[in-house]
Amino acid sequence: MNPLISVRNLKKHFDVGEGMLKAVDGISFDIHEGETFGLVGESGCGKSTAGRTMIRLYEPTEGELLFNGQNVYELSSREMKEVRKNFQMIFQDPYACLNPRMTVEDIVAEPLDIHKICHSKKERRKRVMELLELVGLGKEHAMRFPHEFSGGQRQRVGIARALALNPKFIVCDEPISALDVSIQAQVVNLLKDLQAKLGLTYLFIAHDLSMVRYISDRVAVMYLGHIMELADSEELYNTPLHPYTKALLSAIPIPNPKEQRNRHRIMLEGDVPSPINPPQGCRFVDRCMYATDICRQKTPRLEEVKTGHHVACHLVKEINKEVL
Ligand code: SF4
Repeated sequence: MNPLISVRNLKKHFDVGEGMLKAVDGISFDIHEGETFGLVGESGCGKSTAGRTMIRLYEPTEGELLFNGQNVYELSSREMKEVRKNFQMIFQDPYACLNPRMTVEDIVAEPLDIHKICHSKKERRKRVMELLELVGLGKEHAMRFPHEFSGGQRQRVGIARALALNPKFIVCDEPISALDVSIQAQVVNLLKDLQAKLGLTYLFIAHDLSMVRYISDRVAVMYLGHIMELADSEELYNTPLHPYTKALLSAIPIPNPKEQRNRHRIMLEGDVPSPINPPQGCRFVDRCMYATDICRQKTPRLEEVKTGHHVACHLVKEINKEVL
């Protein structure tokens, strides 16, 4: 199957005066049509910047993004306007990204107005009602303002707007982390239903590893601008091979108290180092209990160590003797 999106050596650096902040520093992966690709990691690992750069909300420092085989970073602004209809984003904080002075109808219709999609008010209203219905809202919500809604409903409005132009690819940037736990599953289920109905492809960015497992087909784990591990979701959660992934997964509580008592929790030492001056060699070297000289000298490449399972670690075979 051909990928819908191919990211090749993508970098996004920011000049912050005291140096270059290497938020994303050479990541590569494919996302297939209809797939949900999870991107996880602690805050500051570069996952949100990667998502924004992929849909060109930020211009990349280096690299390629192929969409249907076309490098979108080489497109003129006119060509990009057409391609952009296929890319949308759902944000973490639905309240912050909805204009409080606009009605829900105008918020959802904004992309239609910008791209001059509808030829009459009647057509515009019909499309907005269709979109509201798709996300589980009704006609009665159209003339209300964002502050009249709960967090979950506001996220539904944000999703309706993201769907207005029939996009193919949606970057979901921590779409549930600002919501109550009781509402999170509803929004995730809505995203899954919409994917099945409309054939959408998602990049799902999150720090909550348990929710990513539930929604994603494949998951990539990021640390300090690099991808450390990438595998099918179940494979990654059942057989993590990178020391960083193992530590992240060992911190997720298990509902069974007996299993929880018996498990070995891997403690990560220190904080994520600054991306302005990241460690030489492996980015994880200062927090890794297995680190040796080679880890400081050479950056490990992301390599396929089992079918579909990629790991960036010099010592992956030694650390995982029982499974590799
Ligand atoms: Fe640890 Fe070295 Fe592997 Fe990096 S390359 S994760 S420092 S063992």
